[in-house]
Amino acid sequence: MSFDYDLFVIGGGSGGVRAARVAASGGASVGLAEESRYGGTCVIRGCVPKKLMVYASEYPSMVEDGRAYGWDISENGFDWDVFSGKLNAELDRLEGIYRKLLANSGVESFDQRATVADAHTVLLADGTKKTAKHILVATGGWPTVPEFPGSDLAITSNEIFHLEKLPESILIVGGGYIASEFAGIMNGLGVKTTQFYRGAQILRGFDEEARNTVADGMVEAGIDLQVETNVTAMVKDGDKIRVTDTKGNETLFDVVMYATGRAPNSKGLGLEELGVELGAKGEVKVDAYSQTKVPSIYAIGDVTDRVNLTPVAIREGMAFVETVFNGNPTSPDHDLIPTAIFTQPEMGTVGLSEEDAAKQEPIEVYATSFKPMQQSFAGRAAKVMMKLVVSKATRKVLGCHIVAPGAGEMIQLAGIAVKMGATKEDFDRTVAVHPTMTEELVTMKTPVRTT
Ligand code: NDP
Repeated sequence: MSFDYDLFVIGGGSGGVRAARVAASGGASVGLAEESRYGGTCVIRGCVPKKLMVYASEYPSMVEDGRAYGWDISENGFDWDVFSGKLNAELDRLEGIYRKLLANSGVESFDQRATVADAHTVLLADGTKKTAKHILVATGGWPTVPEFPGSDLAITSNEIFHLEKLPESILIVGGGYIASEFAGIMNGLGVKTTQFYRGAQILRGFDEEARNTVADGMVEAGIDLQVETNVTAMVKDGDKIRVTDTKGNETLFDVVMYATGRAPNSKGLGLEELGVELGAKGEVKVDAYSQTKVPSIYAIGDVTDRVNLTPVAIREGMAFVETVFNGNPTSPDHDLIPTAIFTQPEMGTVGLSEEDAAKQEPIEVYATSFKPMQQSFAGRAAKVMMKLVVSKATRKVLGCHIVAPGAGEMIQLAGIAVKMGATKEDFDRTVAVHPTMTEELVTMKTPVRTT
C-alpha cells in the first residue's frame, strides 16, 4: 500500500518538530500540521518567554546589589511595553526559525488543525486527507482551571505573556512549577504578589528541605505566600476581581492567574474512536516505545503525560525515529532527569528527594545552607542550599538538590555525575573550585542525618 507520507506529525512543538526533522533528514517523507504557532508551549507560551521574564524580573535586585558594591545606579522603573514588544519580536523570530528548520529538512507543513481519521489517515481542517504509514501525535498539553463560581475570571500562563499592562496586584493560585515561577517573576517586576497553595508547602514532590528553602526565599523576597488556602469564589468588582478564600477572607486583585496543572491535548483528535487508549486525564497511553494500542499511531511529549518537560519530549521524539525509521528499537530513558525550577531563589534537582530515598533504602544525607559571598557582601538575606542524598549500601549519590542563583546551570553538570553513578567518594576526590557556591558539593565531610 502506498501512502502520501512515511510519517505525519500532529503538533509543531518541541517534540513533534524534532521527530519530523530527524525522520526527514534520514530520508523519510514527512508531513506536519500545527494549528497554532510553531514551537509549541515551550517556545511560544512556556519555557522561553518565562525565562526571559525571569531575567527581566531579576534586575531590581541586581541594581540594589550594584549599589551595595559601590555603584551609583538609579532605577527608574520597568516599562512593560518595551519588554513585551521585544518579547513578541523574539518569539516571532524563534517561530520563524522553527518553520525554517522544518522546511530545510524537507518536512511539508500545514498551518491548520489535524485529526486522525483512521489508522493511516489524517484529516486536515480544510477537509484534505493525507495518508501516512505512521502517525505521531505530539499535541502537548493545555492549562486547566477548576470550575467554581467566577472561575472564568482567571487567566492562565497562556495569557500572562499578553497582558496589556502590568497589574498592580496579582493572585497566583497553585503550588507547582508554573505558579511558583510566576510568583517570583511578578514580585520581581514590582507587582504586589499573593500566592495561594491548597497544601502545606509548595512544590510538592520535591525534596522537602529544598522546597522549604525556596518558599522561605520567596517570602523573604516579598511574596505573600498563603499555604493551606484556596479560592472559593470570584466576582468582578469594578476593574478588580474580588476573591473569597477558604479562610473566609475577601481580597481585591487586578489579575488572578491559575496554574493548577495542565491536561493532555487529546480531545477531539479522533483517537479513542480508533481504539487508542486514553487515561483519566486524557493522556494517550503508550508503551515503552511510545506506541499506542493502534500500531501505526505513536505519541510523544506532554500529550502522553509521562515527564512533562521539553527535553524529555525531544528525546521521546528521537527515540521514536530511532525505533520506527532506523530499525533500532529505543525506549526513552526517564530515569535521573535533572530539572530546574526557575523560582527566585532557583532550584536545581536530580534524582531522589531525601524522603523518597529514605523510603527505598538506608541513606546518609549531606547538606549545607549558607549565605553566598556575592549576596552576603551586598547585605541580602537569601540563603543557598546544597544537598547530597547518598546510599549507605552502594555509596552512590541518589539525589542532588541545589537552591541557589544559577542552580539550573549547576544541576546540569551535577546531573552528569549522578547519571554516571558517581559515589560520594567520587564527589569527595574532586578538587573544589574556590571560591564558588558549588564547591560545597565536594567538601561536605559529615552526614547531617542518617536513616
Ligand atoms: P503542577 O501539576 O506542577 O502543579 C499544579 C499545582 O496546582 C499543584 O500545586 C496542585 O496542588 C495545584 N492544584 C491542582 N488542582 C488544584 C485545584 N483544584 N485547586 C487549587 N490548587 C490546585 O502544574 P503546573 O501547572 O505548575 O505545571 C505543569 C507542568 O509543566 C509541570 O508538571 C512541569 O512538568 C511543567 N513545567 C516545567 C517547568 C520547568 O521545567 N521549569 C516550568 C513550568 C512547567 P497539589 O500539589 O496539592 O496537587
